[in-house]
Amino acid sequence: MTEEILRVSDLSTRYFTQEGQVNAVSSLDLEIERGEVFGIVGESGSGKSVTARSVMDLIEPPGEITDGEIRYRNPDLVEAIADDHPNAIDGEFVKLLELPDDVRRSLRGTSFSMIFQDPESSFNPTLTVGEQLAEAVEVQRRASATPRSTRARTESAEYSLGSLLLSNVFPSRRYVSEESRDRAIELLELVGIPDPVERADEYPHEYSGGMLQRAMIAQALAGEPDVLIADEPTTALDVTIQAQILDLLDDLQRETGMTILLITHNLGVIARMCDRVGVMYAGEIVERGTLEDVFDEQIHPYTAGLLGSVPDLEGGATRRDADRRTADRLQPIPGNVPSLLDHEMDDRCQFADRCPKAMTACLEHPPEYPAGGSDAHRARCVLAEREYDEDAALSDGYFDESKRPVGDEHAEPAEPGTEPPEERPQQPAENTGGERQ
Ligand code: SF4
Repeated sequence: MTEEILRVSDLSTRYFTQEGQVNAVSSLDLEIERGEVFGIVGESGSGKSVTARSVMDLIEPPGEITDGEIRYRNPDLVEAIADDHPNAIDGEFVKLLELPDDVRRSLRGTSFSMIFQDPESSFNPTLTVGEQLAEAVEVQRRASATPRSTRARTESAEYSLGSLLLSNVFPSRRYVSEESRDRAIELLELVGIPDPVERADEYPHEYSGGMLQRAMIAQALAGEPDVLIADEPTTALDVTIQAQILDLLDDLQRETGMTILLITHNLGVIARMCDRVGVMYAGEIVERGTLEDVFDEQIHPYTAGLLGSVPDLEGGATRRDADRRTADRLQPIPGNVPSLLDHEMDDRCQFADRCPKAMTACLEHPPEYPAGGSDAHRARCVLAEREYDEDAALSDGYFDESKRPVGDEHAEPAEPGTEPPEERPQQPAENTGGERQ
């Protein structure tokens, strides 16, 4: 029987910049089951990575989680913290946003771990890969020994900050135990690094990009996390290495039963790796469900647009044939992702200015509807509850600023099927990303 391990409800993460409030993630709902691979897909700037960082507690000023809840099912943790933090307990779930910083920090590595996009910037160039992995193992060992608080592990005489400093002055007094060093080598072997004993003594610059990505996966696995978050784990790699890394993640997931949250802009990666998927656009999940729901029975025109912009070269006998087929089939989504600045966002479907099926009903912000596929299928689109009505369609150029009524930024919608009533004279058209098919 499957059970939810992570439940994200109504999550909003905002950045308070000099230009204004940026709504990076808005009212996001998400449930992830234990042992599944859940994918989040979307264009750059859609809020995928901010979602991952919100779960990992890695949002830094001027960013802030302003609303919502993140629940993590872990009965052992519930038992360990129930006395000190009763407000953070909800049955078998821990409400992560109710925890103090030190307890949340202690969950990094042991409960949640993250693989970042760029392995080169994630390793310290002055330490060997083995040393860094061994330190990660050591830290997780201490966190596991004292799950209540990170303070407890740093107060221990054996593992205190003083011990770390002494180990630098007197190298024979080691901060990292032999067991952790051995485990680091085991981890390198686990992720397919050849000659792991020798490789452990090499520095990051001596590793290739693919090897360093493997080492970063090893580091993320050091604490045997419940949930591994992989943020574009193959973006910086060439195609053959990408395939190897995906195979590795696939094998590790099968062997360990680990839950993976996979962030990517690549639908091919989603199709290959995931059990379920959420499609993000402008800080919202606009459609989610099983792979069949999203790939075969999608409701949201943005999902359809993403799928339509993926080349299908199956059966291409020659390059020319393949090029012709690709040119026939590729359907780029017109326009650009919208600004997420609060004062530039209208309270409507955020995809309406790029949507070929925008109607007057879309000028109100759509809720998430059941979408007709599996029980998990949801879409934030009016087409989930009504047919497309050509008579109610917004006219071409409706969102073009130059065609808005003079002096009224928030004009009432034009009559369905008609042109907007008045054009601004002498006003050049501003590109709002509003070109529609
Ligand atoms: S709500 Fe309307 S504008 Fe938005 S995606 Fe659905 S049909 Fe298009």
